[in-house]
Amino acid sequence: MDWSRGTIIGRGSYAVVSSATSDSGDIFAVKSADLSLSHSLQKEQRILSVLSHPYIVGYIGHDITMENHELVYNLLMELLPGGSLADEILRRGRLEESVIGYYTRQILEGLNYIHSIGISHCDIKGENILIGEDGVKISDFGCAKLGQEEVDQPIAGTPMFMAPETACGKEQGFPSDIWALGCTIIEMATGRPPWLNMTDPVSVLYKIAFSGELPVIPDYLSCKARDFVSKCLSRDPKERWTATELLRHPFMDVEFGKVSVNVKLPWNSPTSILDEGVWSGTVEEEEEVSENLAGECSSSPADRIRRLCLFSRQPPPPPDWRREESWFIIRDHNST
Ligand code: ATP
Repeated sequence: MDWSRGTIIGRGSYAVVSSATSDSGDIFAVKSADLSLSHSLQKEQRILSVLSHPYIVGYIGHDITMENHELVYNLLMELLPGGSLADEILRRGRLEESVIGYYTRQILEGLNYIHSIGISHCDIKGENILIGEDGVKISDFGCAKLGQEEVDQPIAGTPMFMAPETACGKEQGFPSDIWALGCTIIEMATGRPPWLNMTDPVSVLYKIAFSGELPVIPDYLSCKARDFVSKCLSRDPKERWTATELLRHPFMDVEFGKVSVNVKLPWNSPTSILDEGVWSGTVEEEEEVSENLAGECSSSPADRIRRLCLFSRQPPPPPDWRREESWFIIRDHNST
């Protein structure tokens, strides 16, 4: 398939996302990284390519292109024109409970689906939930774990949304996604991620892992909504409700009207929650560190937390594929 790259619509820590159009006129999104730095993107492709669900961003294909004398790896996917949920929160501030409920049910159904086939997302947060005409979809599977063979995979994700068992380096799985969902609901309800009064990542990870404290659940939410969030935020992952159980929670029985979203094209590169100075960077440990952290933690809690922070992934300078307003043709080298 031949396609043309359009304007940049988002930037992550390891990839740039652009709009794109195929020869037949279909518009989609393409997430691109320099081939030599595309390990995570290729992993994301392997996971996304096996998923098919109304609340998961749709997979289209992948290819490698030559741009500015560099080989570029591209992940082609459905374009969600409303930007991310974090962008929406920045635009609108706190979301109303009916909107929170509407989005939460969709995210939960998406989570229930991936958990049912053995995949944990490992980086649920407003930035990774995209908005389309029919609501929201889960995106960015760059940290996801597929099946049992990946239980020893390095811990990854965003500290502010990390579950206690993950923050202390012990485990990361389906219950960690549910904790992150609870944090995302707080993000929608307050306009801010949890733990925002904390100034540095070490303190955040310490607090989550060892303080015994929970993120504050806003008291202006209804009883049903607060109870739902509390079931997501059990510190003990065994007591935390599963996605299937949460779908049967009374909060999910409420009739939430369809949320209409302004999804006009084209749009500028969205702002990010990072623009607000909110510390929410992604961390990914190196292999050897994860070996130490897997199972019984061999080092002190302080060491484990420090290592998680030391290995905070520094975003590499994004490749400059920007082609303001203009479109240019890319010829496919691999089949999609
Ligand atoms: P992270 O730093 O969280 O690892 P990343 O490099 O994996 O980020 P994404 O989070 O997947 O990148 O994408 C970055 C941004 O690009 C998103 O926040 C969103 O604004 C935009 N984006 C990504 N995928 C799409 C899509 N399919 N449709 C529309 N916009 C998208």
